Amino acid sequence: MKHRYSAAATVVALLVAGCSTEVEESTAQSAPATPATTYEWKLVTTWPKNLPALGTAPERLAETVDAMSSGRLKIKVYAAGELVPPFEVFDAVSQGNAEMGHGAAYYWRGKMPMSAVFATVPFGMTAQEMNAWLHHGGGLELWRELYAPFGVVPLASGNSGVQMAGWFNKEINSVADIDGLKMRIPGLGGEVFQRAGGVAVAMPGSEIFTALQTGVVDATEWVGPYNDLAFGLQDIATYYYYPGWHEPGATLEAIVNTEALATLPADLKIMLETATRAINQDVLDEFTARNAAALKTMVEEHGVEVRRLPDDVLERFAELSAEVVAEAAADDELAGRILESYQGFLAEVRDYHAISEQAYINARDSVAVD
Ligand code: CA
Repeated sequence: MKHRYSAAATVVALLVAGCSTEVEESTAQSAPATPATTYEWKLVTTWPKNLPALGTAPERLAETVDAMSSGRLKIKVYAAGELVPPFEVFDAVSQGNAEMGHGAAYYWRGKMPMSAVFATVPFGMTAQEMNAWLHHGGGLELWRELYAPFGVVPLASGNSGVQMAGWFNKEINSVADIDGLKMRIPGLGGEVFQRAGGVAVAMPGSEIFTALQTGVVDATEWVGPYNDLAFGLQDIATYYYYPGWHEPGATLEAIVNTEALATLPADLKIMLETATRAINQDVLDEFTARNAAALKTMVEEHGVEVRRLPDDVLERFAELSAEVVAEAAADDELAGRILESYQGFLAEVRDYHAISEQAYINARDSVAVD
């Protein structure tokens, strides 16, 4: 009986737990390993095919999960429009037509006004702060509570960092220059832009270039230099404004159909969550690594003029942002709790960041030696 305590026999014993010793002994000699169940999932995205960072994030997620699980969980990625239109991704996952989706929570504001908070809040948290709130400040639990009635489980799956304010073909020198301006700008920022006198237009990324080129919109934001260069926006607009007050650290989401997730064994669930968390950070790293060079290309090779939004415009946007966020939070009890959690976390972290991240960057710049 001594051999029963070998490692191999112990594994077999675990596999056939509940069987008698006699069966255990004979199984150890003859039974082949049970073939693992393979799961084949569809993932639909709001992003154009192969768009750097945003579009490649779900592809990398699928490759990582495939490798981690030795092929037990296979995820086929469909770009915007391949299986469902970009703005129908949430419904497709909710209804189980696709097991997963990849996009951004503010696209679902029509269903849930506070969903936008889980993408980004104008003048709100940076990427670092947002990741901290989601993963160590109760944010993810609230996000899951918000999506639960739809049978959808969200995970953070990328962050753009601070975006650019956008592309304009005229200078913005005061709030009056916003008046009547038609701009593609999503989320709560779009609502703020509207109240500042502009016209906010919602449209998926794939339509932006043509809309600006043909005059359907006068201005647009997209992400930052790395993504905007890939779209070619530098070829059809002159002024590139900063800072991205409306998207200071936009979180991308991976969403999973609740029932599909429940069918996965525990180890595959952990692999999926761990891979998504890794991609969440990797997307931010990619933007951080590529944005600076892309901006240099825009300025030096395409003659883009980089401008800062005037203080009075930023101040007006900030006033309206507080108003818009408070109204969205009045939607229901859960919306109120989401805002309370978000603002409470931001209030604490901003005080410390004032003497850490912010103070350090200011100090680094003020004492920089060339
Ligand atoms: Ca954006």
